[in-house]
Amino acid sequence: MTSTRFNDFVDNLRQVIDEADGNEQRIRTQAEPLLRDLVSHDDWLEEKYSIPHPDYYQQYCLYACPKGKFSVVSFVWGPGQKTPVHDHTVWGIIGMLRGAEIGERYVQQEDGSLRPEGSEELRRGMTDYVSPSTGDIHRVSNAYDDRVSISIHVYGADIGKVKRHVYVPETGEVKNFISGYAQLPATLP
Ligand code: FE
Repeated sequence: MTSTRFNDFVDNLRQVIDEADGNEQRIRTQAEPLLRDLVSHDDWLEEKYSIPHPDYYQQYCLYACPKGKFSVVSFVWGPGQKTPVHDHTVWGIIGMLRGAEIGERYVQQEDGSLRPEGSEELRRGMTDYVSPSTGDIHRVSNAYDDRVSISIHVYGADIGKVKRHVYVPETGEVKNFISGYAQLPATLP
């Protein structure tokens, strides 16, 4: 990414995370406003990181800390696209850059089954937070059937490499997964 706004965001984020020294509450308190400010401007995301796939939501790595402490990802939702129900196993902050998304939260019960905990719509300029300490399992969908939405996510690890889980809420089935990142298109359309 060549944008000064984005690179300043990464520098500030790195400072917050380094100084917080693993204190998640402090990271959230200081990093969420940084992300809210970033997504309140829509003049910095390079086009190649904003291209939807016709069949699947895309996760483009915008920045991965070389020490693996954090990563920044653009999630590009084609019309009607959604994730499976999944967890993260690390903290994450989500900021809405374009359009809107629906987050449906789930809570795992003692018998392993998942109970829906309601849903929220995240609109442009808003942020949300996920963490194993406060509730980490959700499904995310594009709020729109007729247009692309884009959210920017920050995670407390190189999220494309993290071992985590997808769930089938109806059956309680759990599968391991590692998301990886989307490949950049070879040529822009
Ligand atoms: Fe998620």
